[in-house]
Amino acid sequence: MYISTKNKKDFDLIQTYLKKEKILFKSTACPSIYIINIINNDLEPKEIDYFKKELNIEFISIENGYLTSKNYKEKSTINIGDLVIGGNKPIFISGPCCIESEDQIISIAKEVKKYGANILRGGAYKPRTSPYDFQGLEKEGLDLLYKAKQVTGLPIISELMDIKYIDIFLEDVDIIQIGSRNMQNYHLLKEIGKVKKPVMLKRGLASTIKELLLCAEYIMANGNENVMLCERGIRTFEKYTRNTMDVACIPLLKELSHLPIIADPSHATGKRSLIKPMTLASIASGVDGIMIESHNNPDLALCDGPQSIYPSELKEIIEKSIKIHSII
Ligand code: PEP
Ligand code: MN
Repeated sequence: MYISTKNKKDFDLIQTYLKKEKILFKSTACPSIYIINIINNDLEPKEIDYFKKELNIEFISIENGYLTSKNYKEKSTINIGDLVIGGNKPIFISGPCCIESEDQIISIAKEVKKYGANILRGGAYKPRTSPYDFQGLEKEGLDLLYKAKQVTGLPIISELMDIKYIDIFLEDVDIIQIGSRNMQNYHLLKEIGKVKKPVMLKRGLASTIKELLLCAEYIMANGNENVMLCERGIRTFEKYTRNTMDVACIPLLKELSHLPIIADPSHATGKRSLIKPMTLASIASGVDGIMIESHNNPDLALCDGPQSIYPSELKEIIEKSIKIHSII
């Protein structure tokens, strides 16, 4: 049983009462609301009536989170300069899986901008399956991504894997990406909640929609409400694709949550030929943005070449996306 109030005095009164009655509870002071979980649902109906009458509180449901839900907000948008994510048109994020050199990131940045991307992506700290694989250029990579931002004016997004780098991310990037492998790194989520920087939370490799929403709730409950969700495919028995893209989760998340949703057909499919159809399917499903890996020489990419498109392919993908978006 969950109780919420926006009133600090009522929050304190309830806690005092529960302590006195020795009722087990967990209280959370979110920046915009106070939430109390009565752990064993130990309240008598007459206590519930009394609370409802005397205090400014609500009994709420936290099926998939409260702050992420439509009960908290109907729709949320995130502003990055003039760009609105979750507004009335989809946004496009593109760039290489990882930043490899100054020439590489600056030339890809110029190209993706030319073909219509709104945000530049690039991995600097890379989560790799094998410890022997290229792990990214780390701080040097982030500096190069920032340089590409200065050259093109495109905002940038990059993955943060460890809270010890938060200061450089706060200074340099416009959106912090929390990758699939860290979706349930609760310590990291709580820390990210303490800053205001927009966050893109990617769905875990084998996570349910409920788990994704509750991880977003961790960030929001700690104070950062600038959260967007990212569908990047989930692991199934199918081997033709790298993952199985759960397109249905896009309209479903729209029913459950007010948060903007981004689709990543690159990691979801692992195949260049599937990027356009899966982008269009995501747009038709109501997604707020698309993230596509691109590379000027995918055959030589240090990471994820087979799923990277040539930046020029963005042009047709974006044009068709805008057409589909106009009729949904
Ligand atoms: C990425 O987008 O760079 C990435 C590593 O994706 P994911 O966390 O979805 O595997
Ligand atoms: Mn990648």
